[in-house]
Amino acid sequence: MKKIIYLDNAATTPVDAVVLKKMLPYFSEKYGNPSSIHRLGQETFQAIEESRRQVADFLNCSPEEIYFTGSATESDNLAIWGIIEKIISLGSAKPHLIISAIEHKAVLEICHKLVERKMAELTVLPINEEGLVELTSLEKAIKKNTRLVAVMYANSEIGTVQPIARIGRLIQNINKKRKEPIYFYTDAVQAANYLDCRVDNLGVDGLSFSGHKIYGPKGISAFYLRKGTPITPMIIGGGHEKGLRSGTENVPGIVGLGAAVERIRKSGGDGAQIKKLRDKLITGILRDIPNARFNGSLKERLPNNAHFSFKGAEGESIIMELSQRGICASTGSACASHSLKPSDILLALGLSHEEAHCSVRLTLGKQTKPSDIDYVLEILPGIIERLRKISGR
Ligand code: PLP
Repeated sequence: MKKIIYLDNAATTPVDAVVLKKMLPYFSEKYGNPSSIHRLGQETFQAIEESRRQVADFLNCSPEEIYFTGSATESDNLAIWGIIEKIISLGSAKPHLIISAIEHKAVLEICHKLVERKMAELTVLPINEEGLVELTSLEKAIKKNTRLVAVMYANSEIGTVQPIARIGRLIQNINKKRKEPIYFYTDAVQAANYLDCRVDNLGVDGLSFSGHKIYGPKGISAFYLRKGTPITPMIIGGGHEKGLRSGTENVPGIVGLGAAVERIRKSGGDGAQIKKLRDKLITGILRDIPNARFNGSLKERLPNNAHFSFKGAEGESIIMELSQRGICASTGSACASHSLKPSDILLALGLSHEEAHCSVRLTLGKQTKPSDIDYVLEILPGIIERLRKISGR
């Protein structure tokens, strides 16, 4: 089989060898139910608590403020729905919530559901041409009944990094003059590998990330919720995770998530080396492919993300051609890439439908080598040229 060059690390990452080694005993030898009081149960209980401490160290918060859920989608849903539902049950008639126009569907859809059910009012903040939320537009959008702001830390498609710490400070200052505070939540799924996620530096009340984007396993997420933040659980039953998320814990997944954050904390992340290669890729594409449009901000951007539109060459066709040559890339966010609808994020950025359809995302990882980038630069210009000839544009 041909060598695979994997440039779809925003969709998922391979499990790191050290992480996998830590997880393996929890599938077979150490299989006790953490709720059981016997020796085997206590062993897995301790493993979960160790992982909780590791995540708390990573986020610089108390272990009591960390909850494990089954995915970042679940954490996003829980944060939005759970906080709004609790606020309503405490007596607020129809809270107002504010999100950015480029949130992940896991945030967007639950907000639309709340509006549909007449539980909340929603403002969707536009982004500027670089894909950034502007503080002035956020400040203008805040109303008397605003209770929740959700802005993602880094975007999964175009890699834009939002000014989370500045938004956090703005909301904290506004809260000083209010009786009913505004809570601030950030989806840090794409950021966790590369950016400072210490919650006090960011000024957030809630934050979540996912194991499989940080060289950990799939099907596990960490959800931080600042002590005292009101929330109603979405999944109820046995009262696991201090009643916020019932269901027998995914012990291997939790152990893997803890090991994955330890790897980032100890290594300081993989950003510097990846950024060098990413910059070489961006420079090479802009140099070698005529009419390549680079999307998003160059400065406020994840170090592993390169995103382009190549007018006249359809995104899906580019991905198929690259795939035939062993290169895995994506047309957009993994969850949307089966859909032919143009990405809402690219449209919010101001791209035309055609430009949005002609887009490719290349996301590097710690396993990416300089020769991988050389290979992409060698073959991508020919692919684009050929596809443009076929489409006649
Ligand atoms: N939020 C962002 C920004 C993501 O990129 C993703 C995954 O693509 C998710 C949430 C959902 O994460 P999970 O796959 O753990 O449900």
